[in-house]
Amino acid sequence: MTEPVLETRGITKRFGALTASEDIALDLKPGEIHAVIGPNGAGKSTLIQQICGLLRPDAGQVLLGGRDITRLGAAARARAGLARTFQVSQLAMEDTVLQNALLGALGATARPWRFFGRALDDAELRDRAEAALAQVGLADAAATLCADLSHGQRRQLEVAMALTVDPRAFVMDEPMAGLGAEGSRRMTGFLSELRGTAPILLVEHDMDAVFALADRISVMVYGRIIATGTVSEIRADRAVRDAYLGEEA
Ligand code: ADP
Ligand code: MG
Repeated sequence: MTEPVLETRGITKRFGALTASEDIALDLKPGEIHAVIGPNGAGKSTLIQQICGLLRPDAGQVLLGGRDITRLGAAARARAGLARTFQVSQLAMEDTVLQNALLGALGATARPWRFFGRALDDAELRDRAEAALAQVGLADAAATLCADLSHGQRRQLEVAMALTVDPRAFVMDEPMAGLGAEGSRRMTGFLSELRGTAPILLVEHDMDAVFALADRISVMVYGRIIATGTVSEIRADRAVRDAYLGEEA
């Protein structure tokens, strides 16, 4: 059996009386896109935040490459190769595309922020940042101010920042959000190739994208995973249709 790259075991998180994650077991295998879908408020972002180290679970473990990373903070997890993109954009709008990519690369090397002024002279960092920009198709936009990018290009830049960490696994929370039809199509093609670099745990509302991309889908409802399977298994699943997919399947 293939060892999972990323795994959660028994992740549980309560907000007062609400159980936002209930005993969540998920895994991400090499080369795959594993999508997590579910209605608003199901607990998808809460789960992602616990995987990335932004939120501490009440119980359970997160493993990366078989190593228990549950006690590591978000920055240490990123350095360990857990690459995340954000539901809310965290780009520095007044900086250039290359400067933003360098920020990602700097995070990866754990250098203190005060060295940022000199980062442009650091050949290794610059190489890393430029390689990541080339991989997402933004090489020609390196000198463009982030504020002048299209929404789709900003999403590509966020992925480039994630790429600078030598990712072992990607974790993405709604990368298609706010993209138009054309942007979604482009991002879909891009993510499809990206899984060759590292597998992707993908939270996404856009069902066309999920059905086109996912090797496996897990369905989350009220803090629980009610089914995990291939696209066709999930589409055919009675409980999933009743609880969530309805007409869409
Ligand atoms: P999703 O991403 O699937 O839409 P979320 O993970 O954002 O769902 O939220 C799951 C549930 O947990 C929701 O009911 C939400 O209101 C609640 N929730 C999320 N974050 C907090 C928090 N920090 N404090 C209290 N409740 C929260
Ligand atoms: Mg969410």
